[in-house]
Amino acid sequence: MTVSTKEMLKSAQAGGYAVPAINTNGGNYDIIQACCMAAEEAQSPMILAHYVATGAYSGHGFFVEVAKWCGDKVSVPVAIHLDHGGSFATCMMALKNRFTSIMYDGSALSIEENAKNTNEICKVAREFGVPVEAEIGELVRLDSGNAETANIARIDDVKRYLELCSPDSLAVGIGNAHGYYVETPVIRLDVLAEVRKITDVPLVLHGCTGMSDDVVKEAIKTGVAKINFGTLIRYKYVEFLTAVSIYPDFERIPIHGNTLPRHSAGRKIIY
Ligand SMILES: [Zn+2]
Repeated sequence: MTVSTKEMLKSAQAGGYAVPAINTNGGNYDIIQACCMAAEEAQSPMILAHYVATGAYSGHGFFVEVAKWCGDKVSVPVAIHLDHGGSFATCMMALKNRFTSIMYDGSALSIEENAKNTNEICKVAREFGVPVEAEIGELVRLDSGNAETANIARIDDVKRYLELCSPDSLAVGIGNAHGYYVETPVIRLDVLAEVRKITDVPLVLHGCTGMSDDVVKEAIKTGVAKINFGTLIRYKYVEFLTAVSIYPDFERIPIHGNTLPRHSAGRKIIY
């Protein structure tokens, strides 16, 4: 069933677990279907996530329709989430398209500006009953050439930000990044623990592809209720397509019904 992330993340936090948010590459049916089936099998809630950039190719509404189609056929809660909405207009687009959860990412802005925009978006989103994830401590892409340590949030900034606005969940930069880590990342769980002391808002960890299970589990103990994966599922999907493409008989290429992430990545990333 499709729901919002509001109760989902509160329950996760209270229960000491985290919900996987998996990027679906613009509404890719194989990935969405596999995620929903894996969630049903594991009896785990699931967040289907969507990047604006991939939606520009497939259509944002298309992603929502596929997510609803698959999410409403399973008994576990499934949320339809906008990842890294970069502006008020983008977040409004998501509300109009019936996303059930949105993220506003103003982490590249000043604390004041980020908080001001977060407030404006929260005000409208709450009218729709849609919770808002915010971010502080800008996450870098590992292929951008920036240092991985550039994204560690300062506690004073987090404190000031939360005095100015009240998002429903919060992503905090603690050394995590998007893309594949070249070396083992240094994830500052101590920063997360400090954040936990000043707020009980459900925390979100982005860039979990390549992070060790132990680090992810420790982060969950510190209050992370949502863990994001994008790169992992995309690589597994391409890996599968590459493997089946060598079949000599194209009529028999076993794409349909195999739901690869369900048997590999999809199962692996439900904590
Ligand atoms: Zn992210």
